[in-house]
Order: sequence, then structure tokens, then C-alpha cells
Amino acid sequence: MESPELLFSLVYAFLSVCFVAPPTEFVSGGLTIQNLFSNFLGSEELNFIYYHIRRTTATLVIHSFIPLGYYFGLVICSPHLNLFNIFQTSLLWQIYFVISLTLCLRACLFAFWWSRGKWNNHPIAQELRLLSEDGNWRSVASSIDIEFRRVDKFTTGGFGRRVIVTDSWVMKTSAYYVNVARQSDIHLTLSHSEEHALSYENNTTAQFLSISVSGINPKLKPFHIRLNALEYGDLKEKLTLPIRNVRSIVIRQSLSDQFLEEFRNQVKENPKYRLPQDTEVENCIGCMVKPSNVKLRKECSDLPDGECQQCYCRPMWCLECMGKWFASRQNQQEPETWMSSISPCPTCRAKFCVLDVCSVLG
Ligand SMILES: [Zn+2]
Ligand SMILES: [Zn+2]
Ligand SMILES: [Zn+2]
Repeated sequence: MESPELLFSLVYAFLSVCFVAPPTEFVSGGLTIQNLFSNFLGSEELNFIYYHIRRTTATLVIHSFIPLGYYFGLVICSPHLNLFNIFQTSLLWQIYFVISLTLCLRACLFAFWWSRGKWNNHPIAQELRLLSEDGNWRSVASSIDIEFRRVDKFTTGGFGRRVIVTDSWVMKTSAYYVNVARQSDIHLTLSHSEEHALSYENNTTAQFLSISVSGINPKLKPFHIRLNALEYGDLKEKLTLPIRNVRSIVIRQSLSDQFLEEFRNQVKENPKYRLPQDTEVENCIGCMVKPSNVKLRKECSDLPDGECQQCYCRPMWCLECMGKWFASRQNQQEPETWMSSISPCPTCRAKFCVLDVCSVLG
């Protein structure tokens, strides 16, 4: 390498890109804002909103120093550019210096302004204020924090760009912002799908879906979430609203998701089971989260070769866990036979078919 400034520029550009959009190596090496400032940021698990208010502020300030850092680096490694004395260097560098300095000062001023009144002015706080009924953004923040602590939330996406769905919120984190929307206030529309090659040798591809989140509340900015099609089933399970697919995008769900959907539709058609008086259902013993909402009861007509038996177990499983159990008992090479097959009850081993799965009416 002939000139030291070219070498320095390349290294600096590389490091800056790695810092702004960290590849996995950087993340596992701990060279991220989340790691370097973990004391200042606090705990995401306990205070999700405050954590991200601080994280976005720190990110903005640190990133704003990158151009100025480049200037000072050049001061040291190429003295012949005369950068040390700003009045003697070329006009182009003078302009660069002023712009970089303005960027830093602006970011610091913003950070200072946001932090006033315990972060009252931060854009995320402003956004939550729009979501609150009485203008108190802190109560919205604490209700989000409470739901974020639950183990059954849906999360996907890489470091720094995550999609999080809790019982009543849909959120997306990005470098400088967190989009927040209440499930009851939004429309979800499947907007786009793309295929990415995972491996060129055996032609495997992954399908990624973009879903637009638009608000019924016009003051909220719409945003997009992106996820692997294989996670689509888990996302839908966590949502209380449907995802509209107006462009009829074909979703390549995982085999178990496809089956679960068929299973769910069949159970909807099946007769219902009414709980005897004064019985209480506990949570499903498979996932421990959902209420037990299915009961096995022989409902299929006695086919000549029918093998189904009566199960006397009380409702102990949720629909999804029962479906996953059923699928796990089938021949994995022949998914087309699953719907017409049988499986033993997970508890008493009595055989049942999909027609014998009844939803429980409370
Ligand atoms: Zn379950
Ligand atoms: Zn049973
Ligand atoms: Zn049966």
C-alpha cells in the first residue's frame, strides 16, 4: 500500500460499516453498542422501553462521531494534508470538518433535549403518547414492559432489527427507533415475498415475507416487518387479527405449519365438547401457556377397519400441542397420509383420529 491515508480510509470504512451494521463476528465479539454501554442501558428484560430509548440515543450519538473520527484519524496518519490547522487546509476539508462537527453537536443536543424530564421528549416517548388515552406515555411503556417479560412472546430477526409480538403489541426495533403498534389498532397486510438462496449446491431457498403494519390511528406511521416464511405460523398464533393476503402470495410454510392449519380447520368442523359443571381446565401440559382446549372423544363413525378407541382423559392439551403431537406420530416421509391416520392419546394411549378431536366449550 503506497499512501497511508488510503490504507487508513479503507480500514476506517470497514470498521465503521461493521460497527453500524455489525456482522455476526462483531456481535459475538461483543463490539456492539448494546455491549459497550450495557451499564448505561440497563436491562431490556425488565425495562424494555427505557432500554430502547437509551439504546437509540446512544446509537445516534456514537454514530454521529464516525465522520469526525475519520478527520482526526487523518490528522495523525497524513500530516502532509495539513489537517491539523483547519485554517491552512483545503476548502474541501474545511467543509468536511464543519459538517462532521455539526453532525456531532446536533446529535448531542438532540440527546440532551430528549433526556430532559426523564426522556419525555424522546421520539419513542412521543409515539407512546399517541397510543395512550390520557397522554401518559409511561403507563403505555409499563404495560409493554410487562408483556415483554412473558416467555410466550414471538420474536424474530437478527441483532438490532427484531420483530416482537406480545399479547397486545407488535413492535420492531431498528438502529434509531422502535415502532410500536397495538394489535387492536392495526391492519396487517402481506405485501411482498422474496426468495433467498441458502445454498447453491442443492438449490435450497428460503422465503422471506414482508408484512405492512398500518394503523387505524392516522397519527401513527405505518411500518413493515419481515420474517422467514417458516415462522409465519408462529407469528399467526400470537396475533389476534388476521393477516390480509390481497395479492395472494403463496406462503411456503413448514410441513408442520401446513398440517397444523389443516388440523385446526378440521377441529373447527368437529362436534364440540361441553365441560361438565364446576370443572376447571388447567393450562396445557405441553406448552404450559395456553389453556387446555381440546378433548379426545370418539366421534368418527365406526369404519370397518376403524381402530379408534374412547379416551377418558380430561382436557389436558391445547389444540396446537395436540396437533404437533399427532404430526410427530406419523410417517414423516408421507405427509399426505397424516390427515387420515391415527395416533395414540398422549396420556392414555387410546387411539384417535382427527375427527375425534373436539374443542372444549367453557
Ligand atoms: Zn399446548
Ligand atoms: Zn386419553
Ligand atoms: Zn376416530
